[in-house]
Amino acid sequence: MRCDVVAVGTELLLGQIVDTNSAWLGEHLAANGIDSLLQVKVGDNLGRVVASLRSTLAAADAVIVCGGLGPTHDDLTREAIAEVMGVQLVLDDDVAAVITGMFESRGRYMAANNLRQAMVPVGAEVIPQTRGTAPGLICPVVVDGVEKVMYAVPGVPHEMKEMVERAVLPDLRRRSGDTGVIASRTLRTWGESESGLNERLDPLIARLDEAGNPTLAFLASGWEGLKVRLTAKAPTREAAEALLDKWDAEVRLVVGEHVFAVDDETMESAVLALMRARGLTLGLAESVTGGLVAGRLTAVPGASDVLRGCIVSYASDVKFDLLDVPEGPVVSESAAAAMASGARRALGADVGLALTGVAGPAEQDGMPVGTLCVGVDDGTTVATHVFRLPGQREQMRQMSVITALDYLRRQLVAAE
Ligand code: ATP
Ligand code: MG
Repeated sequence: MRCDVVAVGTELLLGQIVDTNSAWLGEHLAANGIDSLLQVKVGDNLGRVVASLRSTLAAADAVIVCGGLGPTHDDLTREAIAEVMGVQLVLDDDVAAVITGMFESRGRYMAANNLRQAMVPVGAEVIPQTRGTAPGLICPVVVDGVEKVMYAVPGVPHEMKEMVERAVLPDLRRRSGDTGVIASRTLRTWGESESGLNERLDPLIARLDEAGNPTLAFLASGWEGLKVRLTAKAPTREAAEALLDKWDAEVRLVVGEHVFAVDDETMESAVLALMRARGLTLGLAESVTGGLVAGRLTAVPGASDVLRGCIVSYASDVKFDLLDVPEGPVVSESAAAAMASGARRALGADVGLALTGVAGPAEQDGMPVGTLCVGVDDGTTVATHVFRLPGQREQMRQMSVITALDYLRRQLVAAE
């Protein structure tokens, strides 16, 4: 089964928006065992959208069109699909009722052009909308005597993803005669490079390649961690999960110390959970990250039972005055140690975590850009470490957040 992708939108061509939809679609089609061999971008022009659909359908069994389903005059995907199917667009009363009701329930005036979104090509099936106002479409079409299919989904990424997962992927898998279940699990790691992880997992990957199932993929995701994703295929969900359990354990045998979370769990939530389980509170002192660690931690619901607060001690004399850091170089392990103790004391926390470093563009205190000093004071001992992080200023700051939290995580695990 081959399903190509057409992303519609002039803004995609002008570089005003990056076509992340096609990337996401490519990833999820592959994970479902469907080939996606061509992905194109086309502007909001009826003739060119029609031409793109025709040429893609000449080679593929199916095509997903994203974008151009909205209510305005430049949203032309419905018209293009009707033209390729060789049918009329007619008003779908059910869709019209949903759209009208959506406006009424919000007490908002509905411009007449919103009903454009209720126009459906004859013979197409509607994918009911749950988030935006535009429904998706499943449109069978016969090309040179072969039955193929076009799927239209909205351009807004979260609407597109929800609809593809709910309706498009299941429909594609049904058409390809695939009745199996695909399940995946992502182990999030930190502390080893992608190539380093790859090297250590080489023998395991060779065994997986031989078995053909599950598959393993690496995905570097910045301060979300370096992800190792297992994707298993089996006749039932239980069987797929059992395969994932088996290989999850195998991966952890090799690189388990680096695994900090699974699937959507983040480093922040993992650290908060560890501290909560131990009944510990946390106080922060941030210099190089200027509050980013606190920002990430407080984004997790329920962080307040662990996080006491944060002192953004950016200027050196704030470190000296508020945190009792001895005068001297402020990018150093001893400064990080003093900052951690100072934060612990000043914020009345069980554990103090401190970050000081050089984000650039210039070096500081003779320390090169990318230097990060982390300190952890747990009330008994003070641990410090110097990391050398890659990247320009913003990337370095983001890496600092996950690196420092991982350092704390490792202390907590080691103290078991
Ligand atoms: P709506 O019904 O909400 O108007 P639509 O189907 O008309 O959706 P577009 O108008 O093409 O979709 O795009 C809406 C927004 O979705 C764009 O402004 C952009 O932010 C985002 N978007 C569209 N296409 C893509 C894409 N290929 N990749 C990432 N984002 C996209
Ligand atoms: Mg639109």
